[in-house]
Amino acid sequence: MTSADPKIVIVGAGFGGIAAAIELQKHGFTDITILDAAPALGGTWLHNTYPGAACDVPSHLYSFSFAQRRDWSRLCSPQAEILSYLQGVARDYGVDRRVVPNTRVTACTWDDGTRRWTLTTEDGAALDADAVVIATGQLNRPSIPPIVGADSFAGHTFHSARWDHGYDLRGKRVAVIGSGASAVQFVPEIAPLVTRLTVFQRTGNWFMPRKNRPYPAVVRAAVKHVPGLQAYRRRYIYHYGNLLTRMIRNPRTLGRLGHSMSARFMRSQLTDPDVRAKAWPDFTFGCKRVLFSSSFLPALQRPNVELVTDAITRITPTGVETANGGTHDVDCLIWATGFATTGFMFPMKIAGAGGRTLDEAWSDGPRAHLGITVSGFPSMFVMYGPNTNTSGGSIIVYLEAQARYLRQALQQVRVRRAAAIDVRPETEAASDRKLQSRFAGTAWTQCDSWYRDGTGRVVTNWPGYMGEYEKATRTLDPAEFQFL
Ligand code: NAP
Repeated sequence: MTSADPKIVIVGAGFGGIAAAIELQKHGFTDITILDAAPALGGTWLHNTYPGAACDVPSHLYSFSFAQRRDWSRLCSPQAEILSYLQGVARDYGVDRRVVPNTRVTACTWDDGTRRWTLTTEDGAALDADAVVIATGQLNRPSIPPIVGADSFAGHTFHSARWDHGYDLRGKRVAVIGSGASAVQFVPEIAPLVTRLTVFQRTGNWFMPRKNRPYPAVVRAAVKHVPGLQAYRRRYIYHYGNLLTRMIRNPRTLGRLGHSMSARFMRSQLTDPDVRAKAWPDFTFGCKRVLFSSSFLPALQRPNVELVTDAITRITPTGVETANGGTHDVDCLIWATGFATTGFMFPMKIAGAGGRTLDEAWSDGPRAHLGITVSGFPSMFVMYGPNTNTSGGSIIVYLEAQARYLRQALQQVRVRRAAAIDVRPETEAASDRKLQSRFAGTAWTQCDSWYRDGTGRVVTNWPGYMGEYEKATRTLDPAEFQFL
């Protein structure tokens, strides 16, 4: 790239892709295209429409710092409100018109000769680019576990991330497999509608309260009109998120406080001793995502709901069988089994310098300098990449930091009249060693979760606080890169 206005292609039009486009555009880059496989922008907030879908991070923090809204309807906004917020911000900044929907990228290939990228789409079209931003997210590929007979079920079935709104659950016998963040949100919504609901839980979770009623008019008015109140709430929630991270980082000290707060809350919610025994987690507080809900545990104790913790042995045409010989015939089976995360987020083939693929580069597990740049993949930037997920805070804080960082990288390329920028392998290796060493002794290492790969290495989460990530990414050091 020697042009003053490089051609930048962003893959993914969720919060990450939109954040990157706005940041680049603000700094004078104009040739920006955002490709997305979906029919509209929105990413996870377009796809996850299950009943009760909401963000469990309060909207004052789960929103861009530069586009604060003072009229959120409740603490944790529902999916439709978040989607409309993101679409509104994209419109306000004029990046919505850069989105090319219904375009699934299947490959990104670097050419050492031209020092440019070629992106191939599902329909066989090819686009060239000086820089690519992969903003496809960590949680975009619904995962259905390989349970024996999973394909044989003859009733109705779908994954929570692709909710079938055309199917009427009223009066049906329904099985939900999984009890993570998604199930916790939709189970209380569907439990009153169905005849019978069977929730299959493999592992219990730690819970914290979240009532999330609509704000009373007086609170809405105060946030809207009292100067500084919105900013104060954002700051407060930021520190609350950091406190949760502190508990996870220090399971023997502050983590015990989190544990006892959660245990007290759960005891107050779980009045049925049988359900309490079944729902109780057996791992360190904070090892898996702490779930915020005041309605899930009560829903499990409804007369028409059963919590099953026996291992699933197989799916049959009529339902689910469990290890003790239990059979559960149902009309509908909902997979709430999360996403394929550790194979990482690329639903496409990526080949960098020398034809080396990202799969090869990551044969020992995904890694990237600050989660953004991978050595040997020049001018390729990842949003929400390896080790940038958070268990305490808002991913939007991280996405904004990543957008600023990659913008600086492209400014460096422009200043030097270079073609591309590539992180030095020694920089990437050192930053990965430092990062991984910070997981020692934390709760994240004390159970299996989607944060870890088959070897136990934590590949999704940042080991520290939001502020540390913001600081580490604030100023790009050109000495850590090679310019091509
Ligand atoms: P998840 O947290 O990964 O939960 C998947 C569930 O499926 C777990 O209960 C898991 O059990 C179970 N499961 C997986 N394989 C299974 C098998 N073979 N047999 C039986 N059970 C199985 O997925 P999710 O609930 O969709 O949430 C994923 C992530 O999305 C969250 O951690 C969060 O980051 C994000 N999310 C966020 C929000 C929000 O409000 N911010 C809401 C929803 C989702 P185990 O626990 O035993 O593995």
